[in-house]
Amino acid sequence: MRLSAAWRSAYALALSATLFATLALLPPAAAATEVRVVASFSILADMVKQVGGEHVEVTPLIGTDSDAHSYSPSPGDVRTLSQADVVVFNGLNFEGWMERLLKTSDYRGRKVVATEGIEPLEHAGHNDGHDRDSADPHAWQDMNRAKTYVANIRDGLVSADGDNVADYRANADDYLARMDEADADIRQRLEAIDEDTAVITGHASFGYFADAYGLRFLAPEGLATSSAPSAARMAELIDVIEAQNVRALFYENMASPNTIDQLAEESGLSIAGTLYADALTSEGEAASYIGMMRHNARVLHEALAGRADKGPADD
Ligand SMILES: [Zn+2]
Repeated sequence: MRLSAAWRSAYALALSATLFATLALLPPAAAATEVRVVASFSILADMVKQVGGEHVEVTPLIGTDSDAHSYSPSPGDVRTLSQADVVVFNGLNFEGWMERLLKTSDYRGRKVVATEGIEPLEHAGHNDGHDRDSADPHAWQDMNRAKTYVANIRDGLVSADGDNVADYRANADDYLARMDEADADIRQRLEAIDEDTAVITGHASFGYFADAYGLRFLAPEGLATSSAPSAARMAELIDVIEAQNVRALFYENMASPNTIDQLAEESGLSIAGTLYADALTSEGEAASYIGMMRHNARVLHEALAGRADKGPADD
């Protein structure tokens, strides 16, 4: 009896040493029984991490501070996707390349379209860099709509990994509660800003934010994330700023700051901070989705609240 037990534990020890040696040779993605999830961009990757916790290994195709509009899939992305169990993407044509990538990767896992069930908005502007014929894809900018994203991600993980259903549900409940809190805080901050206040950003990605929380976001043609405006276009932008009573300019984390710098110089407006639209940043408050939304609200509030009397005089 004792011998047999000792033998068994020696055998178990040998087995675990072998297993350990094997695992040490494998890349981290294959090391555990985690669900391998590919998320199309950093904001979705964070949501998956929040809901999946320790049970998921998440790889974003478009990383932090990266421009979703200029992305094109690499051979490495094809490989990553071909090994994934679940893919999460925004939908509403935000990732116009996704169907082809799924086909090229011969992907057979589960697909989660984060915006499924969301009532989309029409495109507010014509400068968003995405497919112009589809609805505005930036629905995560309204935290209430983003709760649908989280529910879809939860349901996707639940059906992909039956062993950890209770954890996914608990994580999602906790996350949704934190989103409700953040949504209320954001509302409170934005209520302190005159509703008619206009803000200039690099591309038309704040339509849902405006729909949920107020403000008018202008993303004039010529401020696209990649192009620099001509002198004539710059003069037109100055006219827009005056006609629309624009009170502040903002950088976007994935855009070149040059155009906004130039616009600030020529208009005399200040640059009030950085807003995050389509990508998280690698560290600090805006490294998570909730943090990013709180950051944007705070920066807008600091720049614009209680300053209705401080804009350019119009009398
Ligand atoms: Zn965008």
